[in-house]
Amino acid sequence: MSGARIRAGWRRCAGLLTLATGLVQAQSQPATAVSAAPAVPALPAVAWPVDRKLSDQLELLLRQGFDRPEQALRRLRELQQQADQPAQVLQLLLAEGRLLVLSGDFVQAEQVAERLARQPEARDAVLLLRAERADRMGAGEQAQKLAQQAYAGLSRVCPSAASLQAQTPSTLPAACDFRLVWVALRLIERSQIRAGTLPLAEASAQTSLALVQAGGDRHLTASSLGSLAMIAQLQEQPEAASRWLNQARQQAQGDTLALFKIKSYEAYVAGLRQDGPAKLRAMEECVELARQADAPRWLAQSQSNLADAYLQLKQPGRALDVARQALPLFEQRGDIRIQRTIRHNMAVAYVQLADFEQARREIARIELMSQGEVDQGLRTQELRELGEAWTAAGQFKEGLAAYHLERRLSAELVERNRASALQQLQLKYDSERKQRDLELLQRDQALVDHQLGNRQRVQQVGVAVALLLGLSLLLVALMVQRVRAAHKRLRANEQMLKAQSERDPLTELANRRHFLAVMQQQPRAEFNGALLMVDIDHFKHVNDQHGHGIGDVVICEVARRLSLAVRAEDLVVRWGGEEFLVFAPDIAPERLLQLAERILFGIGGEPVPSSDGPLRVTVSIGCAHFPLQPSGLPQHWEQAVNWADMALYTAKARGRNRAAGIVVVKAGDRQALQQIEADFDAACSSERVQLQQVLGPTA
Ligand code: GH3
Ligand code: MG
Ligand code: MG
Repeated sequence: MSGARIRAGWRRCAGLLTLATGLVQAQSQPATAVSAAPAVPALPAVAWPVDRKLSDQLELLLRQGFDRPEQALRRLRELQQQADQPAQVLQLLLAEGRLLVLSGDFVQAEQVAERLARQPEARDAVLLLRAERADRMGAGEQAQKLAQQAYAGLSRVCPSAASLQAQTPSTLPAACDFRLVWVALRLIERSQIRAGTLPLAEASAQTSLALVQAGGDRHLTASSLGSLAMIAQLQEQPEAASRWLNQARQQAQGDTLALFKIKSYEAYVAGLRQDGPAKLRAMEECVELARQADAPRWLAQSQSNLADAYLQLKQPGRALDVARQALPLFEQRGDIRIQRTIRHNMAVAYVQLADFEQARREIARIELMSQGEVDQGLRTQELRELGEAWTAAGQFKEGLAAYHLERRLSAELVERNRASALQQLQLKYDSERKQRDLELLQRDQALVDHQLGNRQRVQQVGVAVALLLGLSLLLVALMVQRVRAAHKRLRANEQMLKAQSERDPLTELANRRHFLAVMQQQPRAEFNGALLMVDIDHFKHVNDQHGHGIGDVVICEVARRLSLAVRAEDLVVRWGGEEFLVFAPDIAPERLLQLAERILFGIGGEPVPSSDGPLRVTVSIGCAHFPLQPSGLPQHWEQAVNWADMALYTAKARGRNRAAGIVVVKAGDRQALQQIEADFDAACSSERVQLQQVLGPTA
C-alpha cells in the first residue's frame, strides 16, 4: 500500500476517531511514548481526587453528552447541587468542562478550566481539559502537547505501562483515575498515528487497553481493541487486525454504541484493505447502528463518513445528500474539524457534479475555517482530492493550483514526519534499550544478591557450626578438665581424709586403722616380719604429777624418738594412749632385739624436756619375729599382735625399762600354740617359750 493511500485512509479514519475521542476518556500511555513527550516541569505531585462511583456515573453522562450535551449538562448541574465532598465537586467541575467542550462551548469550557486551575490537585485535569478543547477546536499539535503533559501527571499514580502489560492487576490504586489517563493516551495515540509513528501508537493503545481492562470498563476496552485493529491494519498486519476486531466485538456485545464504534473501525480497516464493498456495507451499518443507539451526533459522523465513501465510489449525488444531513449538527456544535471534512467532501462532490460555483463557495468556507491551526496531513489530502476532482472535471487551472499547493505542503509534511519519526523511533529504541538494560541489570543484581545471600547463609551456617563445634569441644574439654580436677581433688581429699583418718592427730604417727589397712593389703593370711609393742612406763604418774599437757608432750617426744630409732621402711603406729606398735617387715629375726635395745635407749637415753623440767621416761617392749621359730607355724596378724603384747606384759612384769623378745616357741601344731597363748606365763616357766631380755638405760 502506498504512503498516499495510507494517508488517504487516515484522513477518513481521522473522522471516525474524532468522534471516538469525543466519547472522551483516557488510556495510559506506555513509557516509550511518554519519554518522547516534551519535558514536563517537575511540580510536586498532588493527588487528583477520585470517587470511583462518581467516576462511573460521569462516564455515562459524558457518553450521553457526546450526543446530547445540553441534557447531560442539566443532569450534571443537579449532581453538582447534591455534591458535598470537595473531591466530588472537583470531579464534577472537570466533567462540566468536558461536556462544554463536547457541546462546542469552548469559551465556557476555558472558564471552567480557569476555575479548576485554582486547585493545585486539579493541575493535570486542567491540562487534559485544555487538550480536549484544543483537539475539538482543530489544534492538533497543541492538543497533543497538553495531552502528554496531562498524561505525565495523571499516570504517576497508576501502574506503569510495563507492569500493566506484564500482568493486569485486579484492582487499580484508588488514586488512579484510569479514564482520564485513557483520554490523554487516546489523544497522544492519535497524534502518533498522524505522525506515522505506528509502533509508538500501538504501544500507547496496548497500554490504554491494559488500563481500561484493569479498570473493568468494557466500553472503553472495546474502543481500545478497535483502535489496535486499525493500527495493526495500518502496519499491514491484516490477521492481527482481524483478531483485534473479533475481541472488540465480543467486548461490545449488548452495548449498541460500542458496537457502532467497532463497526466504524471495521469500515476503516476494510477501506485500508481496499475492500470497497465491505467498507460501504460497514459504513451503512454504522449509520443504522447510530440510529438504533439514538445517537444523533454519531449518526451525523457516520453520515459524514458515508459521504466520503460515496465520493470514493464516484457517487457525488449520494455523497452530497448524506453530507448535507450530517452538517447542521456539527455547525450547531461548533466542531470545526468535522465541518471541514464534511464541507471538503461537499466541495469535491460539487466539482464532480460540475457545480463549480458551489464548489468554490465551499472551498472559501474551508479556507476561512483553516485560519486557525490546521492539520497539515489533512489539508494535503484534501488538496490532492480536490486537485484530482478539478482535473477530472476539466478545470485544469484550479487542478494545477491545488496540485502545486498540495506538493508544497506534502514536501513539508514528509520532511517533518521523517524527522519526527526518526526522533521518536530513536527515543523509543533508546527507551526500550534502557529498559532492557535495566531489566538485565536488575536480573543480574537479583542473581548476585541471591548468590551472595546463599553464600552468606552457607558461611553463616558454617561459622555457626564451627562455633558450635568449637564451643562444644571447649565445653567438653572444660568438663573433662573439671571432672579430672574434681577427680583429682576427690582423690586428694580421699587421700587426705584417708590420711587424716589413718593418722593420729597428736603424734602424727599412723593410727590403728592405718595398721589394719596395711595388714589387709598383705598378700597372704599369715603374718610375716617383726612386731614390737612399746609402752611408756608409769605414764600415769606423769599425768598425775605434771598434768595432761605435759603428758601429751611426753607422748609426742616418745613418738618422735621412736620414729628416729627405726628404719624408714618400718611402720610406727600409735596403738593406744601411751602404747606404740612397730612393724618391721624386713628385719632378720636375730636383729630384732638389737632394734628393741635401740628403741629402749633412743627413748630412755635422754630425759624429755618439759615446762616442769627434764623428765625421765622409759618404755617397756614386747617383741617377736613371725612366723615363730622353730615351728614356723602361720599366724594371723591379730595373733601376732597378741604374742607381742604378751611379751610386753612379761617385760613389765620383770621390772620395766626393758624388752622381752620371744625367740623360741616350742609348739608342734596350731593347738599347741593356742595352749601357750592361753597361759603364756606357764609356757615361759616350762620353757616352751624362751624369751630373751634386753635392759634399757639405767638412771
Ligand atoms: P605401766 O607402767 O604399767 O604401763 O603404768 P602406766 O601408768 O603407764 O599404765 P596405765 O595403763 O595404768 O596408765 C596409762 C595412762 O595414760 C592412763 C591414761 O590416763 C594416760 N593416757 C592415755 N592416753 C593419754 C594421752 O593421750 N595423754 C595423756 N596426757 N595421758 C594419756
Ligand atoms: Mg599402757
Ligand atoms: Mg604404761
